Amino acid sequence: VPRILSALGEMRGVAGIRSAHARPEQAPASERGLRFELTRAAGVAGQRALADWCQRREGVIGPGEVFSQALLRTGLELAQAGGLVDALKDLMNFRQCRAGERFELWLAPGGRLQRFVYHKSPELAYRVERGKAGLAGQRLVRQPETSLEEVGVLIQGSLYASLEAAGETPALVAELVDIFAWDIDFYVDTRAGDTVRLLVEKRSLDGAFIGYGRVLAAEYHGQAVGARRAFRHTLRDDKVGFYDPQGASLRKAFLKSPLKFARITSGFGNRVHPILGFSRMHRGIDYGAPRGTPVWAMADGTVLHAGWKGGYGNTVVLRHANGYQTLYGHLHSLKVKAGARVQQKQEIGTVGSTGLSTGPHLHFEMLLRGQHLNPVKQRFPAADPVPGGELPEYLRQIQPLTERLLGIRVPGQGPVGDLARSGDKGAG
Ligand SMILES: [Zn+2]
Repeated sequence: VPRILSALGEMRGVAGIRSAHARPEQAPASERGLRFELTRAAGVAGQRALADWCQRREGVIGPGEVFSQALLRTGLELAQAGGLVDALKDLMNFRQCRAGERFELWLAPGGRLQRFVYHKSPELAYRVERGKAGLAGQRLVRQPETSLEEVGVLIQGSLYASLEAAGETPALVAELVDIFAWDIDFYVDTRAGDTVRLLVEKRSLDGAFIGYGRVLAAEYHGQAVGARRAFRHTLRDDKVGFYDPQGASLRKAFLKSPLKFARITSGFGNRVHPILGFSRMHRGIDYGAPRGTPVWAMADGTVLHAGWKGGYGNTVVLRHANGYQTLYGHLHSLKVKAGARVQQKQEIGTVGSTGLSTGPHLHFEMLLRGQHLNPVKQRFPAADPVPGGELPEYLRQIQPLTERLLGIRVPGQGPVGDLARSGDKGAG
């Protein structure tokens, strides 16, 4: 008997929702009591009931598509799409809808929209429900769990492949490259057997990884560059930066490489090499690199030239502070225009083989007051260090981080820590 009763309850729940929508406010007095009961039953049955009697459709924002187009493509009627947009317009910025973002529609028999959910990210969704007053929207934010994790990676092959083999994602490679971009040219300085150690926050929802948080400490130990260590630190004026174990800033006026580190698939394999070093005759350095490799501004500056330049082909020349200029030749595409301001790490073009060139490579020159310099030999002063008054506190703070960093196991490597401790001063 209880079984039959519960089955009846479900049926009443379904009927309740239907009747509530079919007959809004004009229900005869004799039915009012009944409707109340049915509606309550519907509330108890809740989500399960909606899943039982509604049709669920999935949609996705297509390439170049705007929100309303994607809605209509699912078969939603124009008027209903309009109502949905109205319910969301104060909550959601439709212009920030990106291709690949998913949403779901729950439609009553007859096609009336009952529920809509837009999945902006694992942490953020927008939801619209049909209630007594019509469609009502809400913004649903979920707080991910953050945990500090230890990552230890032995480089074998490319930096990307090594971190991926260790279960990490390209986003972490980007973080690492960003931290050490002034000291390490990851195209030419990485060797098999180098090690990476990181203390990084990982964010998760329902136990599933959704992204990285802050990197608190990082070490790259390489045969070409020695041991490089960096600690994230917030100064008293709230500025955040990465500093070395002595409190010096990692940031410098010029980056170490004119090639932005990117995942590259090409016949060059996973690494690229300078194919011709600096000489007085040649006046620059050639970086053999696949066509399309991003080229970035070595330092903040202004674009002096962006266009064809004789044998250099497509070329960008930048003017920097203190009389420096940099030149990037044989580019495939140009991403800046003459006269524009550029920031360090901004992409200014891509590697190509235009002009007098036998294959894709970047020809790079650096000049100081018109004189060519060997870029590899330049040493640039670092940005401001941790101020003297804050240094003791900084050194105290990084001590436990250092111990933890050095204790990170690197799978595939021999005894822990021996390499890391030997090269404290780093190489030049
Ligand atoms: Zn050259």
